[in-house]
Amino acid sequence: MIDLHTHSTQSDGKDSPSRLVELSSQQGITVLGVTDHDSTAGWAEAIAAGRRFGVGIVPGIEVSTRSETSEGRGISVHVLCYLPDPDNHALAKTLLATRESRVVRAKKMVTLLAKDYPISWELVLAQLPSGATIGRPAIADALVELGIVPNRTDAFTSILNSRGRYYISELSLETELAIKLIRDAGGVSVMAHPLIDFPAGKSLTDLPGDHFEKLIAAGLDGLEIYHRAVPEHAKNWLSNLALKHDLIVTGSSDYHGVGGKDNELGENHTTQAMLDRIINQASGSQAFL
Ligand code: AMP
Ligand code: ZN
Ligand code: FE
Ligand code: FE
Repeated sequence: MIDLHTHSTQSDGKDSPSRLVELSSQQGITVLGVTDHDSTAGWAEAIAAGRRFGVGIVPGIEVSTRSETSEGRGISVHVLCYLPDPDNHALAKTLLATRESRVVRAKKMVTLLAKDYPISWELVLAQLPSGATIGRPAIADALVELGIVPNRTDAFTSILNSRGRYYISELSLETELAIKLIRDAGGVSVMAHPLIDFPAGKSLTDLPGDHFEKLIAAGLDGLEIYHRAVPEHAKNWLSNLALKHDLIVTGSSDYHGVGGKDNELGENHTTQAMLDRIINQASGSQAFL
């Protein structure tokens, strides 16, 4: 079974890269994508653990980007980047800038939260190893530690939700630019959990077709259609779009560990044929199968 989207403690997962690989081998996963947010820091440990536990590793990154809707609203778009050259200067520089801006943004959110809750920046930093990509999950974990919410998911649905008063959006990397950066670094780009924010009640005719066409024209290689957060009523539409443009289609768990998110390892998977396409197309780094 091939699961191409997971997180470790190098971003907001609960398991170290080694433990993530060990758990994957126990779950019958043969090839695992390790795709921490905006970071390649977990790759080396995951590759070494892959050899130990007999799990193939596809190194990747989940790149945080932003797009504008036709109404001019900023939306967050996650782009999975498989097998890029991690030393590609433009890509490494951009990822570093994103991680730095995430720190600035998280600090601002903590400052807002500290007006109402006994939270501190130190407590947030204590939730993850130094150098890991920081985000709302670390703030959520601090709120859990303080006993303010029972778990991460609860923090996201209440205090930290993106329409709430403590939310700050910081992303500056434009989605089209990210797709080009990934391509230039020899990587393959797959839009993570497309349409995750598309309201269930909205009609399919309102789907942002122009936005997808624009990203495909910019070089988007694939769509992660099989993911628990992709709205059921959009899956057909996405599949037709993939057929029309001969895109790569993947399925993945987006596992974040126990207490990270409910997603279970291997709950969605990718076909061997699609993995072959990713590997054949990539020129930036090697898969360790
Ligand atoms: P950020 O990028 O800092 O805004 O945080 C978003 C991250 O939080 C995403 O990577 C999600 O995986 C994670 N996340 C979003 N919603 C939840 C949730 N309900 N429970 C746990 N983690 C979540
Ligand atoms: Zn995450
Ligand atoms: Fe994501
Ligand atoms: Fe993810």
